[in-house]
Amino acid sequence: MAEEEVAKLEKHLMLLRQEYVKLQKKLVDTERRCSLLAVEANQDNASDTFISRLLTIVAELYQQEQYSDLKIKVGDKHIRAHKFVLAARSDTWSLANLASTEELDLSESTKHNEKQICLEELDFFLSKDRALCEKGVMSLVNVRNCIRFYQTAEELSASTLLNYCAEIIASHWDDLRKEDFSSMSAQLLYKMFKSKTEYPLHKAIKVEREDVVFLYLIEMDSQLPGKLNELDHNGDLALDLALAQRLEGIATTLVNHKADVDRADTRGWSLLHKAIQRGDKFAANFLIKNGARVNAATLGDQETPLHLVASYSPKKHSPDVMAEMAQIAESLLQAGANPNMQDNKGRTPLHVSIVVRNEPVFSQLLQCKQLDLELKDHEGSTALWLAVQYITVSSDQSVNPFEDAPVVNGTSFDENSFAARLIQRGSNTDAPDTVTGNCLLQRAAGAGNEAASLFLATHGAKVNHQNKRGETPLHTACRHGLANLTAELLQQGANPNIQTAEAVLGQKDASAPPTAENVYLQTPLHMAIAYNHPDVVSVILEQKANALHATNNLQIIPDFSLKDSRDQTVLGLALWTGMHTIAAQLLGSGASINDTMSDGQTLLHMAIQRQDSKSALFLLEHQADINVRTQDGETALQLAIKNQLPLVVDAICTRGADMSVPDEKGNPPLWLALENNLEDIASTLLVPFLPQVDNKGRNFLHVAVQNSDIESVLFLISVQANVNSRVQDASKLTPLHLAVQAGSEIIVRNLLLAGAQVNELTKHRQTALHLAAQQDLPTICSVLLENGVDFAAVDENGNNALHLAVMHGRLNNIRVLLTECNVDAEAFNIRGQSPMHILGQYGKDNAAAICDLFLECMPEYPLDKPDAEGNTVLLLAYMKGNANLCRAIVRAGARLGVNNNQGVNIFNYQVATKQLLFRLLDMLTKEPPWCDGSNCYECTAKFGVTTRKHHCRHCGRLLCHKCSTKEIPIIKFDLNKPVRVCNICFDVLTLGGVS
Ligand SMILES: [Zn+2]
Ligand SMILES: [Zn+2]
Repeated sequence: MAEEEVAKLEKHLMLLRQEYVKLQKKLVDTERRCSLLAVEANQDNASDTFISRLLTIVAELYQQEQYSDLKIKVGDKHIRAHKFVLAARSDTWSLANLASTEELDLSESTKHNEKQICLEELDFFLSKDRALCEKGVMSLVNVRNCIRFYQTAEELSASTLLNYCAEIIASHWDDLRKEDFSSMSAQLLYKMFKSKTEYPLHKAIKVEREDVVFLYLIEMDSQLPGKLNELDHNGDLALDLALAQRLEGIATTLVNHKADVDRADTRGWSLLHKAIQRGDKFAANFLIKNGARVNAATLGDQETPLHLVASYSPKKHSPDVMAEMAQIAESLLQAGANPNMQDNKGRTPLHVSIVVRNEPVFSQLLQCKQLDLELKDHEGSTALWLAVQYITVSSDQSVNPFEDAPVVNGTSFDENSFAARLIQRGSNTDAPDTVTGNCLLQRAAGAGNEAASLFLATHGAKVNHQNKRGETPLHTACRHGLANLTAELLQQGANPNIQTAEAVLGQKDASAPPTAENVYLQTPLHMAIAYNHPDVVSVILEQKANALHATNNLQIIPDFSLKDSRDQTVLGLALWTGMHTIAAQLLGSGASINDTMSDGQTLLHMAIQRQDSKSALFLLEHQADINVRTQDGETALQLAIKNQLPLVVDAICTRGADMSVPDEKGNPPLWLALENNLEDIASTLLVPFLPQVDNKGRNFLHVAVQNSDIESVLFLISVQANVNSRVQDASKLTPLHLAVQAGSEIIVRNLLLAGAQVNELTKHRQTALHLAAQQDLPTICSVLLENGVDFAAVDENGNNALHLAVMHGRLNNIRVLLTECNVDAEAFNIRGQSPMHILGQYGKDNAAAICDLFLECMPEYPLDKPDAEGNTVLLLAYMKGNANLCRAIVRAGARLGVNNNQGVNIFNYQVATKQLLFRLLDMLTKEPPWCDGSNCYECTAKFGVTTRKHHCRHCGRLLCHKCSTKEIPIIKFDLNKPVRVCNICFDVLTLGGVS
């Protein structure tokens, strides 16, 4: 160091000495010129020496032919020259070597020697005719010789030529090499720089002239160090230029004169940044050594020198350069560089070195004790996260992988990989993301980078880490279909029974449809199924099988009964996503086919309600329990019918479902099918189960008939239902009976067409006609009659259809019976009553009309025929108080006073008022038939010899004399003479009937 300084100082002393010598020379020359000028001026004080006179003569020879023995060609001109002058002026030339020369072509001369000659001659001439000669020479100046001409012009004080040369130099700075200036003295060069450039210091450095720099520093001493930190037109600093050219001497000088080693450009790039950027180890080390700030950051990108060093990529730079960068890094760190500075992307030098795979710098950084491995860039990436990005699976299957330990793509997966070394150095293998809570393993799996995930899984990452949604790495692997990772995680003890958490309130969008995204409580297996990754499912199932057989295994056995937030087991999920193969595997691995949901539904119920026949059939095939009921009490069969799934119904029936289980309305399954117009399902159900009856003993046909469901009836008929089967209850009705009760003509007709027996009897021995007759069903009565029903049949009470029609006041039925068949209208039932007696006993408002109808059809009807108890119709009607019927009967000419077996008649029947009797008597218009007997109708005295029979001529009753003492003419009978009447008739005839 000291020696260098001494050498430099000696050099500068030499420069000063030369400067002195040059000044002395110039003084001598000046003195010489001064005397020459004095001679030329013929001044008195001129020395009248020989030399002066000789010089005068020689000067007068300029351009003269006299004594000229040489021509010098300059451009187009020929100058007459003189060999002896040339010889005298120059050391190069002598009279001897000029002897044979006649002419020198200066314009074409290129040889240095010749040029030298010319210049020597010119020197001389120029002293004579400056203007002319300078002009002549200027045409010779070019880039290559301009410096030489400049020096000559300077020596000759040829200011025009000097300026001309200086202009050429100034306009060709970049074309001139430092060698071009080597012949120039420091002083001259400095002078030229000062005159032709704003930044002489920068120029001096560019041409590597430390001496010129020295002169500059001497001159600018008072303005230091400010001048040293000026930027030139290119924005370069003097120190930067010196370093770039590896001019350590100049650089040291500048630094010693307080040049700013941290000077930054407008982008904030310091000298150190620039040095590193251009790969300049020399400059970088110089700056570091001289105290440059090692942590300076650029503007904008915020990069420190360490960042720049780390950013060198082995793809773009040779190993040598990379090694140099590592050395710079080492120097920087030793000088106190902070390895944890983050650039504007948040990246530390470590991040950068990983991204560009700068292993030398990476290694250097790892050795640094204060290195923070867990810093995250603005994308949330730690160094390890960046490093694992480079872990990929080899495309070569032969080195592949995952059998035992994960294998590598040559460099990245082995223990020398960046990632492995970071972990060895203590990097956190989990480093959860602050937003999602995903650990690195999950991030890698989520990005589909299975190799990286496997690497992490086998290098200490927590396999049961849970992110903010409660997902473990195993969930992530299952979601993304990473089968190898799934296997490895399980091997490492990942818990397959961890369920995801409910979404945090606020993140949950209530209006969103239930997608796979907002389901929670999912196990990893749910995920694998929901995202349709059968290979992953297989891995988990295999693991379960292995875990069950292993004796010393820590692996956790998957629980297939866990349910997600939609109450789905994995088996259900597999079914609903159509993964039936998986579903079969799940069953094979122990999943329960009969697990129920919280509402009690089995998978079979659900499959049916989803109308997913395929799944339902699958479940049936795998022996799902068909007898479980829903909370509403419905069986699978009922659901299948309601959901119109014939194949499922068929399968359930084949499995032997209990067909008799009725629904909540008591209907058996078949009825449900019929109700829903599902003939195909019904026929499936029906054929083997036609005899089935409900709790009221009714089969399907019975129910259909009772419900007047013609379609079902027709269907049942079409499937050969027995149309004569009887309800299995006390009534034992046939379908025909039921049809009549239901009042459906069309069903009656169809049953008859299908072979129903028309004369089948009820337990009361009634025919269908009996039943029809009791209701207002005249058409059905007609239909039955058309079909040959036995109209004469009597029931257990001896009633024929007409009895019953009368009893129920069915006028229309009676008309049909009386007009369309020969039913016996006078038949007695077991109580000895004819239909007319029935009318008298049971008749209502329309009884008179019925009576009229009877008489219209049968004018000779024996109205006075008594029933078993001796009652006539009139007496029965009278005892019932049926005035209309009584009047109709009386009008028809019935006998009035007939006694029954108890001797009761309308005259003595105990009633509150005799008004009706009086009216009936009053309305007589002709003499009624006489009654006969052996006793008086009034006093019951027995007739004999003494007691003679008489008749009341008004009411026709048989009376004794005592009871018919009065006589009165009966004008309405055309009996104008007084005739015998009873006491009552006398009153009627005399009082006018109505009292
Ligand atoms: Zn009378
Ligand atoms: Zn009497």
